[in-house]
Amino acid sequence: PISIFWFRRDLRLNDNAGFYHALKSSNAVLPFFIFDKNILEKLEDANDARLTFIHNALVDIDRQLQKYKSSLLAVYDKPLDAWVKLLKQYKIKAVYTNQDYEPYAKERDEAVKNLLTDHHIEFKTFKDQVIFDTNEVVKDDGKPYTVYTPYKNKWYQKLKPFYLKSYQTEKYLVNLLKFKAPAIPALKEIGFEKSDLQLPDINYQRVIDNYSNTRNYPAVKGTSHVGVHLRFGTVSIRQCAADANKAPDKTWLNELIWREFYSMILYHFPHTANHAFRPEYDRIEWINDEVQFDAWCKGETGFPLVDAGMRELNATGFMHNRVRMITASFLSKDLLIDWRWGERYFARKLLDYEMASNVGGWQWAAGSGTDAAPYFRIFNPDSQLKRFDPKMEYVKKWVPEYADFSKYPKPIIDHKFARERCLKDFKKALNR
Ligand code: FAD
Repeated sequence: PISIFWFRRDLRLNDNAGFYHALKSSNAVLPFFIFDKNILEKLEDANDARLTFIHNALVDIDRQLQKYKSSLLAVYDKPLDAWVKLLKQYKIKAVYTNQDYEPYAKERDEAVKNLLTDHHIEFKTFKDQVIFDTNEVVKDDGKPYTVYTPYKNKWYQKLKPFYLKSYQTEKYLVNLLKFKAPAIPALKEIGFEKSDLQLPDINYQRVIDNYSNTRNYPAVKGTSHVGVHLRFGTVSIRQCAADANKAPDKTWLNELIWREFYSMILYHFPHTANHAFRPEYDRIEWINDEVQFDAWCKGETGFPLVDAGMRELNATGFMHNRVRMITASFLSKDLLIDWRWGERYFARKLLDYEMASNVGGWQWAAGSGTDAAPYFRIFNPDSQLKRFDPKMEYVKKWVPEYADFSKYPKPIIDHKFARERCLKDFKKALNR
């Protein structure tokens, strides 16, 4: 019998926890990937660049496996159906995979585990995408933290070199099953087109030391762009955290801890995917004007920094963090459009889309989340522009027509009016 390693959002051979354990415990490991029909059928854009990213990563993995006369078996199917078929094809001893914490993933894995258990096959999961998961960093009474700073302090207390050590898969790659899988399904076969989106270099080594000075300026290449790699696992979190931990300035590491904090929050409070973390915020009466929403999506609000951010997102699948905060605050507080509309739009467009961080970021901006900005703190898009893009370099890049009054749209709302309206609306909901 063989063992299977099921790749999901851990698309690399090196320093991969579940893959390491599979290779160590078996001398016939078959690498497996499912293009999940349940997920892909819901994606709206045929040129969704994330599919190209995943496809490229799989082709790369397959190429590396071939050096060991092995290959990657990749299928397009619903996960449970794919497993039923695989069970008919192979005699399987155990299935190894890495833990996935999103609500859909938890359900999927439960169903697959039940199927495998019925066939007396072990389903083994390992922590791989975070340094500390669900219940590892908790309050002294065992309850999950709901505020970042004490969570972060405990995270640092728990950190030992062991947690940052990489899993040396290299020496066990001889234990791969030697076989030739059918070609990986082409993007076309699974309903997508190749995207020609260029990814920026991952330059986190370069940004770590200067990060606290440069991170807030969207015109500067001051952040790492490692998000998409952490999302799909083409870079190891242990590697990132180990490098970050060597730096005297821990600001960048603190951001990686925000990622783990939000992952832990979504795990323990799955309702936050769709509902306010603070329930009273579900009472807010949103205006949800579709014309204004459309203007926001297109980057035609007449607020240059908001528009630059949305256009960067639409063109590249990335938006700078400072601008994510500003566009999110503008949508939820100035336009009084439900943060869930914005969350969904970001989910559709962001290459580094991560449900936990996206929901966390949106709820922060709307005031309804764990560490949220209080509802009465409302970003002024013009003063944010003066502070964070003083030479208008970022704006000029993404909104080249901004200086031409005949071409650039007039503001779709008066900020002062919007601010007062927001305060009134939020107060009414929260004091009820
Ligand atoms: P860097 O600044 O170089 O940071 C390194 C890594 O740390 C990031 O890649 C990310 O994994 C993590 N990180 C940094 N800031 C945060 C944060 N505030 N919360 C959680 N993790 C963080 N991040 C996502 O990964 N996916 C999302 O879908 C997402 N949606 C967001 C939505 C809103 C409204 C806001 C305000 C923030 C969102 N963020 C999200 C957090 C943050 O904006 C991005 O992680 C960051 O901009 C990615 O760029 P980078 O890789 O260059 O990050």
